[in-house]
Amino acid sequence: MNEKQKIVSNIINALPQLQCRKCEYQDCESYAHAIVYDNEKVNKCEPGGKETSIQISSIKSSNKNIKANRINNYQIANIKIDECIGCTLCIKACPIDAIIGAKNQCHFIIEDQCNGCELCINECPVDCMELIDNVNNDSWVWPSLESEKSKKLYYQKLERINNINEQRQIQKDNRTKELLIKKYLENAFDREDLKHNKIKEYE
Ligand code: SF4
Ligand code: SF4
Ligand code: SF4
Repeated sequence: MNEKQKIVSNIINALPQLQCRKCEYQDCESYAHAIVYDNEKVNKCEPGGKETSIQISSIKSSNKNIKANRINNYQIANIKIDECIGCTLCIKACPIDAIIGAKNQCHFIIEDQCNGCELCINECPVDCMELIDNVNNDSWVWPSLESEKSKKLYYQKLERINNINEQRQIQKDNRTKELLIKKYLENAFDREDLKHNKIKEYE
């Protein structure tokens, strides 16, 4: 790992791992990359707040490891179960698979997994999602086992989506090949018919 990669890695550790995109980047890692390689501002992680900006600046200048940081009174998502229509849109939006439910059935939040990133809330077409206080744990601390678990769940989902997309691309390529072969054969039969008809004309 070169010096810049080490700084990226330390900045990633200084970020909350919510993968909430409030920094306008795809995830915490993309934001850390932009800070180091594109000189992006250090104050764009809204959930991390001022303390996170200060830590990132200090990592950038001295690449020192950081101390733990926290969000107090953090909230998690809730689904009003009698209003959910089971559209599955929130499952697609959740970066860490913290929602379960089948199509047309009521969905549920896995409360000890939800990190309150809010990405699902505005996806709901019937407005039956809301943020509520987390009664089991009123602060989000990072780096911690919990933030590491959230990061791991995010990368597992990314990998699964990449695999599905790869499979879809393979199926699409196969269908394109089949169509090309079909077209080639149709043209070959047409050419054969034409030849046959011309021969008949001379007979
Ligand atoms: S937690 Fe901060 S760095 Fe990570 S995606 Fe959200 S805003 Fe960006
Ligand atoms: S359930 Fe909603 S708020 Fe919780 S992690 Fe998933 S998308 Fe974020
Ligand atoms: S987006 Fe709303 S209606 Fe659709 S499954 Fe999720 S909670 Fe239910």
